[in-house]
Amino acid sequence: MKKLVLISVAALLLFSCAKTQTEPSLSPDPVREGWTYAPPETGMYEGRARHIGGDQLTVEDGYLYFDGGEGDGYVVPMRLNLETGNVTALCTDPVCAHNSVECPLYGTRHFIPVRIGETTQVLALRLYSYPEQTLSGEEWTTVWDLVCYDPVSGKRTVLETFEGNMGLFPEVYFGPYRFYISQITDEEGNWVGGLTRMDVTTGKTELLFEGFYMPLLEKDGRVWVSDGVGFFSFEALSASPVLREEFGGTSDMLPDQTLCSTDGANLYVTQNQSDTVRVIPLDGGEERVISVSFAESYKRIIPADGWLCYFSGENTVLGEARIRGYASDKLELYGEEFRRCRPDGTEDQCIFRFEGEWASFRPHNIVTDGRYLYCTYSWWEDPDGDCIYRDDAQRSSLPVNGHDNCSLLRIDCETGEAEIITIREGTK
Ligand SMILES: [Zn+2]
Repeated sequence: MKKLVLISVAALLLFSCAKTQTEPSLSPDPVREGWTYAPPETGMYEGRARHIGGDQLTVEDGYLYFDGGEGDGYVVPMRLNLETGNVTALCTDPVCAHNSVECPLYGTRHFIPVRIGETTQVLALRLYSYPEQTLSGEEWTTVWDLVCYDPVSGKRTVLETFEGNMGLFPEVYFGPYRFYISQITDEEGNWVGGLTRMDVTTGKTELLFEGFYMPLLEKDGRVWVSDGVGFFSFEALSASPVLREEFGGTSDMLPDQTLCSTDGANLYVTQNQSDTVRVIPLDGGEERVISVSFAESYKRIIPADGWLCYFSGENTVLGEARIRGYASDKLELYGEEFRRCRPDGTEDQCIFRFEGEWASFRPHNIVTDGRYLYCTYSWWEDPDGDCIYRDDAQRSSLPVNGHDNCSLLRIDCETGEAEIITIREGTK
C-alpha cells in the first residue's frame, strides 16, 4: 500500500513537472527555486548618498541592482528581487540581447536606481562608439551621456551629454531631484562648479551653491552637505534653498567621502590607515570614536538593522603562488570574516568566517538590505588540491576583466548562513 502511494506521488510530480514546462507561469515574478528570504526588522535608511561610479551593487525598493553583463566592458543593468530571488534585466525589450546600440541601455558603464515618486528609475552613464557609413567612408560616432530610464515604460531621457572632464562624487536624491557637484571649468581649466540640483525627469539643472559642498544624505526633506569642515543642510524642494549651518566639524576635515556612511542617526567616517570610526551624531551631539578591527583593504562601515557591519580579520596565506606577474610566491588573502557591533562599539561579534569551503573566497563590493549582506567576490581554484595556485586560478563573480561568471554571495547576518546566487555560470 505504501509503495502504491509513493508511486502515485511520483506520477503526480512527473505530471506537474510536465505541466509547468508547457504552461507559462501566471505570476509575473515567480519565486526562485529553493529561495528563502527573511525581511530585516528595520528597513534600510533611504536618504544615504550614493555613488554612481563607485557603487557596483545597490539595494533599492526591494531589489538588488547589479551588472549582469558578459564582461565586454559594458554593464548590463539587472536586478534581483530580494523577496522572490527572481532576476530580470532592466531593459524592457524581451527579445533584446543588450549588446548593440538598439538596446536603450547599451554602452552603460555605471548605473544606479533612483526612487522618484512611486516609480524606480535608472540613471545610467553611457560611453560607447559605433561606426556609421557616410559618403566619405566609415565614421565613428561617440556617445557619452547620462540617461534616465524607466524600467516599466521603457522611456529613456537624455539628461546630460559630456565631452570631457567627467568626475563623479556621491550624490543625494530626493523628490524628482539629483543633488550633485557639477563639473564646470573656466577657460584656464579651473573647477568653478558648485552644488547643483537636476530634475531627473527633464534634465533641467540649477546651480544652488557655488563652491565645494559634498552631498552627504537626505533627512526629513533636507539635504545635508559638508564643505570639508562644517555640516550644513537646506530644504530639498524649496524654490530657492538657503544653507543652514547644522554644526561645525569637531576634529579632522572629512576624509574621502566614499568612506562615509550613515543610518540617518549618525555619520560613520573611516580612514584608510586607521582602525577607528568617527561617529558623528546628526542631532549635533558630541562626536565619539569607536575602535574596530578592520581587514586591511576594506575599512568601511555598513549600517544594517541597528548594527554596524564591517569586514575584518588577519591576512591569511592560502598557498603557493605560481602566477605570471603575481608579486609574491605566496598567495595571501586579506581578512577572513564579517563582524558587527552596535553603534557604540559594544556587542562586537563574528557573523561569518571565510573558512573551509569558503577559505579562498573574498568579497569585493558589499551592500545590505538590513538582514543580508550581498557581495561580489573572487575565489581561487586548486583542482588538484596541492595548494599551488597557477595562472587563471583566480575567478571572479563579476563579469569583468575577461571573466564571464555572474553570481552574488548572500550572507544572513542573523544565522551566518552563506549561499551563492548564480545568475550565469561562467567558464573563466
Ligand atoms: Zn536591452
